[in-house]
Amino acid sequence: MASGQHHDRATLGWSLPIGLAAGSLLGPTAGVIAFTAFLFGGLWLSPDLDTQSNALHRWGPLGGIWWPYRRLIPHRSIWSHGPLVGTAVRLLVLLGWTVLISSLVPAINPNKVLTALPWALQNHPQETAALLLGLEASVWLHLLQDGDPWPAEWTRHQRRRRRR
Ligand SMILES: [Zn+2]
Repeated sequence: MASGQHHDRATLGWSLPIGLAAGSLLGPTAGVIAFTAFLFGGLWLSPDLDTQSNALHRWGPLGGIWWPYRRLIPHRSIWSHGPLVGTAVRLLVLLGWTVLISSLVPAINPNKVLTALPWALQNHPQETAALLLGLEASVWLHLLQDGDPWPAEWTRHQRRRRRR
């Protein structure tokens, strides 16, 4: 399993190639978005928010928002380290907090927060795709670097089947 430093270095090293690749496919704006999303995904929204990690410390005093994620999800579980599933769970955590805070601030309509993603997909499909691809690509890099790209549950399941 790679250390936090290895994950950070790889994220920094791969962010530009990912941004350039996305830019050549989806246009320059999407390239910048994919580059930024990849960096944010690797350095702040890492699957390792399920443990005391560099990513968690980067949130500083806001790190508390990941407390339920860390408490409920075992380290390297499918819910944090599963392809697509992990990103979806972390985005849901962020969405949950955003809706909660917006419901406390009268000036913000929580419904607007909930409809932001469908609205973005409809009105800015390429940029939204670049955002989601950048986030998910950073997770795949993380999983490949761990050398064991399967979540802990899947590895246990495979071992049990091999023993049979
Ligand atoms: Zn990890």
